[in-house]
Amino acid sequence: MPKPINLKFLRRTNFSIFEYYNNWSMKKIAFLISFISFTSFSQQLATIVNQLDYSSSEIKKNFAATITDNELKDHLYTFASAEFEGRKTGEAGQKKAAAYLVDYYKSLNISSPQGMNYLQNIPVDFFKGRSKNDSENVMAFIKGSEKPEEIIVISAHYDHVGTKGEEIYFGADDDGSGTVAVLEIAEAFKNAADMGFTPKRSLLFLNLTGEEIGLMGAKYYTENPVFELKNTVANLNIDMIGRVDKKYTNNPNYVYLIGADKLSTELHNISENANKTYTNLILDYTYNDESDPNRFYYRSDHYHFAKNNIPIIFYFNGVHEDYHKPTDTPDKINYKLLEKRTQLVFYTAWELANRDERIKLKELKN
Ligand SMILES: [Zn+2]
Repeated sequence: MPKPINLKFLRRTNFSIFEYYNNWSMKKIAFLISFISFTSFSQQLATIVNQLDYSSSEIKKNFAATITDNELKDHLYTFASAEFEGRKTGEAGQKKAAAYLVDYYKSLNISSPQGMNYLQNIPVDFFKGRSKNDSENVMAFIKGSEKPEEIIVISAHYDHVGTKGEEIYFGADDDGSGTVAVLEIAEAFKNAADMGFTPKRSLLFLNLTGEEIGLMGAKYYTENPVFELKNTVANLNIDMIGRVDKKYTNNPNYVYLIGADKLSTELHNISENANKTYTNLILDYTYNDESDPNRFYYRSDHYHFAKNNIPIIFYFNGVHEDYHKPTDTPDKINYKLLEKRTQLVFYTAWELANRDERIKLKELKN
């Protein structure tokens, strides 16, 4: 981190010019001029220093570097272990997983949205028979320093499909990978805030339930938003970013991005720019094509934000042979790649949170 500029030194210079005049009226005039110029100069300086720091690549790299393959791995080996029983919505394993997330945020002193105690309860009726019990979205919150009412949502679903007979569906990639990415991004932003770089806009870390039974956690959140949807600037949604698909077996330095340019060209450009400057992944837009038969744009939680006209990016590694099988286990994750993809989300979120102007929506075509 660069040293802060010493304003006392500047003040001292002004005073020595002032002392040079013996004549009283000259002194007064000189003082007035130096005072006025000092005030406006220091204001400008403060603005420049402020902007410099938040946009400084060294600063960003410092905090991005706290997102490490080892920490992601530690979390995922717990989160996708037998203890959590495949994290099926409404079941004991999902509740344990929720408790794990809450404990983690508490341990880092990352707060909850006011009055929420980290949990948004979803009543069983909402699930229309797809869950036997109530379930919970888990959320943590870092309040913005300049535009706290404007919210960036960073999300991943933490539920999976549970067990069948003796077999546990561990869901390490789906979506243990996205969940631990959110945890590490939250930690990086918390570190930044503790070092004086509180994000200018607010950040909501949203661990969603009920995705596997029909995007229900995201549906519930957007129908019962904790922060007004019109103030929700963007949603970065992560669902499966720890594996490599067939197309990239020999060159795994990639991620599929879906939706980035659909509602806001600025969002797409920010994402491209973050990648070009810091992470240098191949950004593959195959699945962003409206005519792609997989229709992934409609298939994960971000869709409920997008349909409310909130720009989204969906980060995704594509499908693989262990998708929705008991063999989706943490030993098959590429942790270095998971680290890099997580850092891309972090850099993009940093820009969204700290840039002067909120990103603009595209003008709607008639
Ligand atoms: Zn998923």
